[in-house]
Amino acid sequence: MANVDAPFTLPTDVKDITIKNFINGQWVTPLTNRSFATVCPATGQELTLIPDSGETDIDNAVKAAKTAFKTWSKTTVKHRVSILKRIAELIKEHLAVLAKYESLDQGKTLSLATRHEIPSCVHIFELFATMIAKGFAETKGSMPFGSSPMEITDIKPCTVDSVTQYVPAGVAAIITPWNVPLVMISQKLAPCLAAGSTCVIKPTELCSITTYLFTHILREAGVPDGVVNVVFGTGERAGEPLVKHKDVRVISFTGGTKTGSRIGMVAGALNKRVYMELGGKSPSLVFDDCDIHHAAATGIRSIFHNQGEICVAASRHYVQNPIYKRYLELFREKTIGRLKVGDPRDSNTYYGALVSQNHLEKVTGYIRMAQEEGATVEFLVDPNDPDIVSVSSDGRLTIRGLEGGFFVAPTLITDIKQSSPVVQEEIFGPVVCVLPFDSEDEAVELANDTKYGLSASVWSLDQRRLDRVMRQINAGTVWSNTWFALNLELPFGGFGCSGNSREFGPWSLEIFSEIKTLSHNRYR
Ligand code: NAD
Repeated sequence: MANVDAPFTLPTDVKDITIKNFINGQWVTPLTNRSFATVCPATGQELTLIPDSGETDIDNAVKAAKTAFKTWSKTTVKHRVSILKRIAELIKEHLAVLAKYESLDQGKTLSLATRHEIPSCVHIFELFATMIAKGFAETKGSMPFGSSPMEITDIKPCTVDSVTQYVPAGVAAIITPWNVPLVMISQKLAPCLAAGSTCVIKPTELCSITTYLFTHILREAGVPDGVVNVVFGTGERAGEPLVKHKDVRVISFTGGTKTGSRIGMVAGALNKRVYMELGGKSPSLVFDDCDIHHAAATGIRSIFHNQGEICVAASRHYVQNPIYKRYLELFREKTIGRLKVGDPRDSNTYYGALVSQNHLEKVTGYIRMAQEEGATVEFLVDPNDPDIVSVSSDGRLTIRGLEGGFFVAPTLITDIKQSSPVVQEEIFGPVVCVLPFDSEDEAVELANDTKYGLSASVWSLDQRRLDRVMRQINAGTVWSNTWFALNLELPFGGFGCSGNSREFGPWSLEIFSEIKTLSHNRYR
């Protein structure tokens, strides 16, 4: 139980943080006795050590979750609401510390973490508290059943009244990526707790600090031992044993499409329920009858927000020929000298460092590929920015005072073929391809020419055109004249290689529940 005498605080200096697994309400070192270093993306320097957990650590965590399920699944909705609300309050109280570490560990700007991401976590816990307080959605039905001529026994005709019932699913595996670490945990954990299930979380190995601090919040909020367990480590050594564990009933995974295929294969063979939110390569269709200033300004945000490390990033912009050149001019004008890349702590910085050296290599690799294919590649940086020491030929930026950091310039690619891997594959960085089109049909065809289908934006002031085009786009979320306007009470998820799940609202509660149909013979 929480210590009621001492005020609850979180460490403000990374040197005071020793990350341990959180199993059955205790912080424990991994039985493997192994760890690896995590690196600060803005400096390239080691931040702290992460437990490199293995199968036995996972097994202990699942056992704790299975035991805790017996009581947690029977708690009242009122009790769960009070815990979810307390978690929200504690995140709010410790917002500054959590935002500081999210920025330090992930490379995102402190202002994005402070103003948007950590407040989103608060909102998510509050939302699911409110949702279950209103009650789970029920579907009811009545149906007469007569005795059939086939019956040989004396069965009376009757009416059967049926009603659906949501029951907690059991032990869930929650596996998350690095781009919005605590948001991802909250997005899955809040509905898991709300639904009465228990879980083992395997967060990304690249950004584990806020998840570790969050375990202290969970304990302080009164989450009973074993209800939430967190095991740190790699996908291979900790993630996969979790997916395979015989007592894990449900897997809620967000991450890359390739990992999703692997998890789907492993879990499918074991008949587990798997919910996947995967990658994207979202299009933005810009028609010549749109508000072009608004389209260009939002277009910039849609690819450079969070270093382009966002699943719904609009990384393919298709612009109708009459306004193609003007759109590019505006895109350059509104970026160069106005969008600052650099120190994530500086409130003037729009985006910070990419998450890792490996990811930097991946992103700059696509930039080199575009150059080799003969595309036009422009780095939209301000030549007079005193903080930029140099821009390399593949877009890597050297920032004064942060020379070891993983920074990449805002990159605009034109004169590239639709079939290029640069246009087809998810880059997950600040790199946008802008291509022209002539007709509405061509725009729809280009937008749908992808294996993904997470989101899309359509820009036009003609409502009938919007209706026609939006209906034809194969994506889970389609916006008109905006981007990333998510209503957390509505479903979010992708078509095709973007996943098989829908999250938020009741769709998230369904992931962590089993749905039964109870049918009563009315004897009439
Ligand atoms: P990733 O697939 O490399 O890793 C995600 C998680 O899976 C990590 O915790 C990792 O350790 C774990 N993992 C890896 N291999 C595993 C295995 N064999 N078994 C079990 N777990 C395993 O993804 P990433 O690089 O961390 O994240 C970036 C990706 O996430 C991008 O593709 C992005 O589009 C996607 N993403 C999607 C959404 C969405 O809602 N659709 C949201 C955020 C991020």
